[in-house]
Amino acid sequence: MLEHPLGELTLKGFCYDMSETRISDFLEKNPECVACEHLPQCTGGCMVESMTEEGDFLVPDKRTCYFHKHIGADAVRKVADEAIKKYCVS
Ligand code: SF4
Repeated sequence: MLEHPLGELTLKGFCYDMSETRISDFLEKNPECVACEHLPQCTGGCMVESMTEEGDFLVPDKRTCYFHKHIGADAVRKVADEAIKKYCVS
């Protein structure tokens, strides 16, 4: 932002491309995600993470992928519920 106007960064850079991307664009490049049972919750993860780690926002975000395949939202919910019961309910 110190070197380029905000309009240039948002309208001509990858941020604009990301904002124009549809899930169908992502799925076209990632058939393993099309076949994945976690797709409705995951949707390939975070595009910014993929861009940062892989240099391509149309590849799956590895951390989110790992989370959905090996941990899951139910495990997080269980820990959160236990913490709420322990620390927030009197
Ligand atoms: S869990 Fe992994 S394979 Fe499944 S949709 Fe998400 S990124 Fe794709």
